[in-house]
Amino acid sequence: MKFWPMRALHSAILAATVAATAVSTGVEACLPRPVRWSGCPEWKRYEYESGHMGAQFHIVLYATDQRQADAAAKAAFARVAELDQILSDYKDDSEAMRLGRGSGGEPTPVSDDLFRVLEASLEIARLTDGAFEPTLGPVVQLWRRARRQKELPDPDRLTAARGLVGWRLVHLDSQRRRVQLTKPGMRLDFGGIGKGFAADEALNVLKNHGIRRALISAGGDIVVGAPPPGQAAWKIGVAPHEAPDRPPARFLHLAHAAVSTSGDAEQFVEIGGKRYSHIVDPFTGLGLQGRRSVTVVADRGVYSDSLATAFCVMDPAKAVRLADRLESAAALIIIGEGDTVRLWASSRWKDHER
Ligand code: AMP
Ligand code: MG
Repeated sequence: MKFWPMRALHSAILAATVAATAVSTGVEACLPRPVRWSGCPEWKRYEYESGHMGAQFHIVLYATDQRQADAAAKAAFARVAELDQILSDYKDDSEAMRLGRGSGGEPTPVSDDLFRVLEASLEIARLTDGAFEPTLGPVVQLWRRARRQKELPDPDRLTAARGLVGWRLVHLDSQRRRVQLTKPGMRLDFGGIGKGFAADEALNVLKNHGIRRALISAGGDIVVGAPPPGQAAWKIGVAPHEAPDRPPARFLHLAHAAVSTSGDAEQFVEIGGKRYSHIVDPFTGLGLQGRRSVTVVADRGVYSDSLATAFCVMDPAKAVRLADRLESAAALIIIGEGDTVRLWASSRWKDHER
């Protein structure tokens, strides 16, 4: 079994839902004015925002030169837009959608980006025994329609859609970077991993522009590089799980890490008095029911994002055991049952909380 290399995280992670905001300022360890040497840089904080992948992407970065900062942020957003065009299942002409239209056919050469996302998706699908399911597209489509029409999916159509789902039906040929979707009608859905991957890539673009002190947030997914000048970590406010619109109740401290939150707090539909999440249980084809909020810390957004989605589906005890096996991952799972709230924390969680 392959595990990704993870660094120890110097962070405190607390219960979370989506609305996470970076709040931190600082000045590099320069001497005070009268004795400051002339070459010491003046760090400034810059913030940028742009809509991609159905979410607002925010960049917060520290730089000593505005032109460098602007150019880096522009290039990072361009990279996210490029990935959206590859991964989206909302754009008919995205590479992922075109691959789906060729399902049942011969292996197809794909871009390096699509291949990497598929590799990571299959790795997490395997680790989570299929709770993370990147081929869930046909079923997710039915649930999207159900949300619009406020009607449960037609059972026959749901059964047919479920027959097109299975991560083992995806064959990767890494030598020739080709992909085969072995059943006609298959459809990829990277909704549970794409934003984390894109945030990782955006951070890399900033690094290539010489910007290391940066944070990228994309809805419930946050990736951070080096901390703000003079600080040990990014301080990330976390909304209370039962009320994502309320101000942060607790704070995380992260550097060179990623944190993602998944759950039913924002996206769900109520049909016949029951509440169904936008996250679908691949084993039943049904939107998850009940209140649940999962926060995962990992060394990269591609992993925190996909694991947070998977842990919503999995038995919580099994999910935290898996987090323990993944060297520096940590997870907190909050499940609401009636008036009670139950918490599961992976064993490393307490190391991160301070
Ligand atoms: P997230 O908000 O990151 O948890 O991702 C939720 C999105 O991932 C949904 O809107 C679907 O597009 C997709 N999705 C839903 N259920 C699953 C699942 N079990 N495995 C993988 N992706 C899923
Ligand atoms: Mg996710």
